[in-house]
Amino acid sequence: MLLFIFLDGVGLGPNHPSNPFAKTRYPALERLCGGPLTAEHEIDRADHLFRGIDACLGVEGLPQSATGQTTLFTGVNGPQLEGMHISAFPTRALRDTIAKHSFLKKAKESGFRVTFANAYSPYYWTRANRRNRHSATTWANMAAGLRFRDFDDLARGRAVYWDITHELARASYAPELPYVAPERAGQRLARLAARHDLTLWETFLPDLCGHRRIAWSPVETLQRIDAMLGGLLETLPPQATLLITSDHGNLEDPSTKGHTYNPAPLIVWGPGARHFRQVNDLTGIAPAILECLRHGRPSADSDENGLRRST
Ligand SMILES: [Zn+2]
Repeated sequence: MLLFIFLDGVGLGPNHPSNPFAKTRYPALERLCGGPLTAEHEIDRADHLFRGIDACLGVEGLPQSATGQTTLFTGVNGPQLEGMHISAFPTRALRDTIAKHSFLKKAKESGFRVTFANAYSPYYWTRANRRNRHSATTWANMAAGLRFRDFDDLARGRAVYWDITHELARASYAPELPYVAPERAGQRLARLAARHDLTLWETFLPDLCGHRRIAWSPVETLQRIDAMLGGLLETLPPQATLLITSDHGNLEDPSTKGHTYNPAPLIVWGPGARHFRQVNDLTGIAPAILECLRHGRPSADSDENGLRRST
């Protein structure tokens, strides 16, 4: 079982107090990275990886979300396909690529139990100007024909919102959502992951914070993410593999409101880590996920929670 946490806008910068990742201690991130989430050190073990992977992908210019995420979720080099890095929402060519090669789709077609753990607000789908303005994850989930979780799922603890605690949603468009402690959100995500072969969850918090588009400081943002990861790590079953990566740098460099050229972190924690050892850039993630799933293929006799008994 594999849980993929996609953090939008996280790069590996230097271990320097100006870097929010090095400014204070984050216990869960330290556990996952063997120290701060910075560029100076690596972990290369069969069950634990931490290092940087290239997000520039051989194309000039700053890495951006639409091309970077398409690459992560398909294994196809999005910037090379477009001849440039493209921000925000995937273009027609990127959408076509996702429709064909979404890792969620491929995993589902191979018989794995796949889910996207984020919840979507009721307002998301009715926004008049929405049209084709969906992020790559949304397209990847559509390509797989998977259900989108909603606020009912959030109320039942069966989804995690992109802002983790609902604080940002409550302050603007969804005051009805109850506050959820970040540790509890992490526990919920772990339980979802335990019931599926492949679970995806994404947050744009680091990217929005790096672009100064939310009220939280970088440290406040990272403290919430870290507390969520703390709750997750204490609840995730030992047979689960946790993958964390990003599409481009941003939050690690407060000297700019934009993206960076820094490598994206590759964190893999758990028995499937060895399948990610050869990954050098964003194109390697989707194939490694599928390989990891194939090697951990569920036996026919799963219990009612979907947990494997014998393998
Ligand atoms: Zn991004």
